[in-house]
Amino acid sequence: MNPIVNPATTSHFFWRRLASSAIFAAACAIAGCGSSGTEAVPVTNRAEVFSPVVTKVVFEMAYAPGAEPWMEGFGGSTRGFLLMERNALRLFSGPEKILEIPTSLDQMAKLDDVTQTDFTSQDLLDIAAKHRSKVSAGNTAAYYFLWVNGYFSKDGQRNNAVLGVSVGDSGVIAVFKPALQENLDALVTSTDTPAEKLRLAADSRLVEQMVMLHELGHAVGLVNDGLPMSTEHQDADHGHHCSNPNCLMYWMNSRFNSVRQFVTTRMTSGESAVFDDACLADAAAYGK
Ligand SMILES: [Zn+2]
Ligand SMILES: [Zn+2]
Repeated sequence: MNPIVNPATTSHFFWRRLASSAIFAAACAIAGCGSSGTEAVPVTNRAEVFSPVVTKVVFEMAYAPGAEPWMEGFGGSTRGFLLMERNALRLFSGPEKILEIPTSLDQMAKLDDVTQTDFTSQDLLDIAAKHRSKVSAGNTAAYYFLWVNGYFSKDGQRNNAVLGVSVGDSGVIAVFKPALQENLDALVTSTDTPAEKLRLAADSRLVEQMVMLHELGHAVGLVNDGLPMSTEHQDADHGHHCSNPNCLMYWMNSRFNSVRQFVTTRMTSGESAVFDDACLADAAAYGK
């Protein structure tokens, strides 16, 4: 685990439990990520993670066999999720909270019994109900990141363009590894140079972290989906996304090639911040 800063005040706070009917997914599909708009249920506690009484944010992680997250860091670093960590810290920076984020596969659960290849939102919740060990309670907010070796499915239809989902208010975030891998494979076969292939593999690790963060953004109520806006920046035509193309919560930044371009452009310019000021301001305002 990787606890990062800062013990703050402790007071008591109880997270409201969700009714089981309150289930929908903010799914990032090829046509964008806006399916939550029409199915929205009353949002109860999504933004409470920013409350000053929440002093600890835990990312529990688990993976199905064959769907392991890409953990190799860059330049010999063993901190595979560094970019994700930095941006999670920015999001939860005011008031600061302790973040617990796994830094290696052996800090994650391997779920040998998760063998299916299509997953509805309910399937993901069922897996979480069986395997999840940390829940939001008291001064702790918990998220469950789940890597599955299959695809998102809705209304009996597989959608292999969906890279990740955040399921309602559950704090469950899924990454669909084969969807990521197929996008990577398509790029790799289009080039012959070994250097380019290596670069694409490295890019894909960044994309995976962006998928985690984009869905975390939805899980905490961005944009205007439980977390009130402090300035107008919702792209309502695309559901609960940000109107700024230079923000990870922009609707196109749930798609593989768009987000790859977005993140690699930032990295080459030495900029690691992926949430824009408007999104970060919403989080900061709730914490006050
Ligand atoms: Zn989205
Ligand atoms: Zn934004």
